[in-house]
Amino acid sequence: MRSFVPNYHLETPRDLTEALTRMAKEPGTWRPFAGGTDLMVLLEAGKLQQRKFLSVSRLVELQGISVSPERVSLGAMTTYSEVRRNEVLAREFPLLCRAAEETGSIATQNRGTLGGNIANASPAADSPPALLVYGTELELVSATGTRRVPFHGFWLGYKKLALREDELIAGIHLPRSRQDWKHFYRKVGTRRAQAISKVCFAGAALIDAGRIADVRIALGSVAPIVLRATETEALLRGENLSAELIRAAQTTLAREIAPIDDMRSTARYRLRVAQNLLGEFCESLAA
Ligand SMILES: Cc1cc2nc3c(=O)[nH]c(=O)nc-3n(C[C@H](O)[C@H](O)[C@H](O)COP(=O)(O)OP(=O)(O)OC[C@H]3O[C@@H](n4cnc5c(N)ncnc54)[C@H](O)[C@@H]3O)c2cc1C
Repeated sequence: MRSFVPNYHLETPRDLTEALTRMAKEPGTWRPFAGGTDLMVLLEAGKLQQRKFLSVSRLVELQGISVSPERVSLGAMTTYSEVRRNEVLAREFPLLCRAAEETGSIATQNRGTLGGNIANASPAADSPPALLVYGTELELVSATGTRRVPFHGFWLGYKKLALREDELIAGIHLPRSRQDWKHFYRKVGTRRAQAISKVCFAGAALIDAGRIADVRIALGSVAPIVLRATETEALLRGENLSAELIRAAQTTLAREIAPIDDMRSTARYRLRVAQNLLGEFCESLAA
């Protein structure tokens, strides 16, 4: 059932200070409205419980992509289209660009933001696996100051965030340390486009003389949150690639993930696909 639109309030603060002051005065009352691609779906379905929104789309402090020798920093309002157009991201963070290409349609990519994708905390979201692999840090702002937290650990459970009610996600920082790494991204859905993931896999590894010197693996749609497969990473790290090692990694991965049956897929299918994608990733490292 559709929502009754006059029941909702959307206000546009003049600047970040006004937005944060409003959120500090009435914590939990005002919720950010960015591109609206998740919120409008809830509104249309009559499931949008929150009534008051602050439009953050014009806040300049939440916009733009900047590059320093240490990191690439993206404002929370960065859209998928902006990610796709950025040359430094294409060169150094290809998993994020692949995730942006695989997200919805061009219309969704033009409006949907990375900050919204992170705050919406869907276990099936497509950019978080890439962000986890790249060791992303989030910049959170409130009227009382700014803090930086690792994205790994920011999602506490299904739709639960380590974000206070008076805080906004302001920035997403990607450390520039993985230029020599090999990258692998696969989203498996019902169709090749406009589909929610059944399994999403992002991996990157540094290979030194045939040995896996370091490795990062993250998966979506296989647990209540997008997760880093840290035990599987630990098993692979420091080892030479072999069929036996890949089989052992697939067994470890099965212990780390907790896929479920739902309207989009089955736990059995998701487990098998996750293991197959891990196998493909490992084989790609040998190539
Ligand atoms: C047709 C369609 C297809 C889609 N396909 C995909 C897909 O393939 N893959 C995928 O991952 N997603 C997909 N989505 C989901 C959606 O587009 C993304 O999650 C998008 O990134 C959300 O960003 P937004 O700016 O639109 O967020 P909004 O809808 O504005 O907000 C989403 C949530 O984040 C909060 N929020 C927004 N910005 C901030 C901030 N700066 N700080 C704190 N909280 C904030 C809001 O309060 C809200 O709770 C799809 C959506 C649609 C409608």
